[in-house]
Amino acid sequence: MTDSTKPLGEFDLIERFFKNRANQQSKNYPQILLGIGDDCALIGAEKSFNSNSLKDLAISTDMLVEGRHFLPDANPYLLGHKCLAVNLSDLAAMGASPLGFTLAISMPEVKASWLEAFSNGLFDLANQHQCPLIGGDTTAGPLTISITVFGSVSGGEALARHKAQVGDDIWVSHQVGDARLALGALRHEWPLSAEEFNAVSGRMHAPTPRVDLGQKLLGIANAAIDISDGLLGDLSHILRQSKVSAEVFIDEVPGSDVLKSKSLELQRLCKLSGGDDYELCFTAPPEKTAAINGLSKELGFALTKIGKVTSSSTQLITLIDGDGHPLPPNLSAQYLQSFDHFQ
Ligand code: ADP
Ligand code: MG
Repeated sequence: MTDSTKPLGEFDLIERFFKNRANQQSKNYPQILLGIGDDCALIGAEKSFNSNSLKDLAISTDMLVEGRHFLPDANPYLLGHKCLAVNLSDLAAMGASPLGFTLAISMPEVKASWLEAFSNGLFDLANQHQCPLIGGDTTAGPLTISITVFGSVSGGEALARHKAQVGDDIWVSHQVGDARLALGALRHEWPLSAEEFNAVSGRMHAPTPRVDLGQKLLGIANAAIDISDGLLGDLSHILRQSKVSAEVFIDEVPGSDVLKSKSLELQRLCKLSGGDDYELCFTAPPEKTAAINGLSKELGFALTKIGKVTSSSTQLITLIDGDGHPLPPNLSAQYLQSFDHFQ
């Protein structure tokens, strides 16, 4: 509890104890182009090692804790994949190309078979993205895995949360909601047949970071974020930082066949407020529609228009149903909640 007895949320605590003070600091350091508040921080342009073009350095850290982000019996191969995937996803959201990563790990005991499988999952994904492990730290303690990933992006061109423009379309990659659907079945919130669970659980255990898409969106998209905490919650970060609002056509948000077979209410809950999908949500001017449809063909997965950026109004996000009607505020509110580790 805080001094005022109101519980302090994850984002409030970061703002009060770290972000405000860090922003004061950053003013004195011109190399910090973007500090706390986006998917990656950006350190100012340096000459690229293999060309004369100017590149900014994109950096992000994400930590996975046993009992919080994964269960004690989690498959170590998939865990190795996931802890790097969530970091690569932050590079994707900035349009950055991976350069390398560090790994800090604490574990209660040394189990060679577990470490073998974990490192296989980690390196299989790292090799797929030409992203070498360059260092780290290892200690005894509760199982916790923290990765810091480094990437590069053309000087001044990174996608960022604060760059959405009024009139932009809002897009989402592939499909969202399956990770939440699988989690709900594990938590006994709703039933899934074994076949359904197998079809959707890969999305929770082994997300695909959209690294190629992020890079190809440079020059096309204005703003982007990866969906880790829930589509609407993550979109709201873009809107607040860009000082704009949005309309979202909620039944246009793409979901899998398994999700589409569920009630409309469950579909909406999973697609709008479910986290852990690691798809990209981005905004782009309407004249980029053909280019984005071309990218979808090239990459082999859907890119779907799900809304519109509007000028700032008291309601940050207006949800529009399949009949074109705005959802009543009490119904909207439940979908607008996204994941917060402390609330
Ligand atoms: P993401 O979901 O993209 O990983 P988060 O929601 O975890 O981002 O964090 C939001 C922002 O706050 C990011 O810019 C992140 O770097 C920053 N942040 C989170 N925790 C801390 C911390 N303890 N100290 C400094 N910055 C932090
Ligand atoms: Mg992110």
